[in-house]
Amino acid sequence: MKLPEKITLCEVGLRDGLQNESKILTVEEKVEILNMLVDAGFKVIEVGSFAHPKAVPQMATTDEVFKRIDMKDDVEYRALVFNLKGVERAVKCGCRKVKLNVSASKAHNLANVNMTPEESVAKFKDCVDLAKANGLEVSGSISMPFGSPWEYKIPVDDVKSIVNAYLTLGVKEISLSDASGMAVPNQVYDMCTELKRTFPEVKWILHFHDTRGLGIANILAGMQAGITWFDSSFGGLGGCPFVPGATGNVVTEDIVHMCDEMGIETGIDLDKSISIARTVERLLGKKLPGYILRAGKNSDLLKNK
Ligand code: ZN
Repeated sequence: MKLPEKITLCEVGLRDGLQNESKILTVEEKVEILNMLVDAGFKVIEVGSFAHPKAVPQMATTDEVFKRIDMKDDVEYRALVFNLKGVERAVKCGCRKVKLNVSASKAHNLANVNMTPEESVAKFKDCVDLAKANGLEVSGSISMPFGSPWEYKIPVDDVKSIVNAYLTLGVKEISLSDASGMAVPNQVYDMCTELKRTFPEVKWILHFHDTRGLGIANILAGMQAGITWFDSSFGGLGGCPFVPGATGNVVTEDIVHMCDEMGIETGIDLDKSISIARTVERLLGKKLPGYILRAGKNSDLLKNK
């Protein structure tokens, strides 16, 4: 098997996970989780989003959380933004990296904002300009490039056209986000291979939801295509508001466990990663779906012999 020696996991549970929970964690609880993540070795953390507090009350304290972070130079703390107001908030609270998002579904985008995805990205110019003028890095996300409830499959040329729109703005880090959980491994391999070949200057990040049990298989397919950056969520926390029955991202500890067993370096301490998921279970008062949380590690079996 053609596999990378090393991958980087971007922990998105504080944003993609917590935004779907009815229980809202306090600033202190979020900071506690953040500190544990840094201690476990995570180098990329999505801290929250700058959504309107009425629309997403779970993220209303993102500004406060950023002010409380003891930022390490070798850790990237990013946040999702939706508009200029979000970038203004990011600048004010000391956030150094923002991520924009557009839907790859033309029908979804036209119904929502009456623009094509490319027009939506072009509209982000004011956000990118303000972020860059203040020294913030900008990342771009494309959601549902592997399939949407509106079109089923999205043609790769449509995805390329959105990538070009981001590149026009100077955004070279692009995340492909399977929010609808419709991606399948051979499609991931083919699309990633094609996109990498067409846009060698882009840093790609893959973001899979495990809605139909294919999340970790899709990550493996991405690795085979040479992608080494993946989003994941502690315990598999999360969902997606407009996709019925959606689950969270691929489970962080499950990926770390797989990589440890396969000899792929993640830089993350598996035991610490498991205890983070347990802490989140305690704070939310609910069980999380992670496999390793339930079954334990392979190596636990040996100790019991
Ligand atoms: Zn997501």
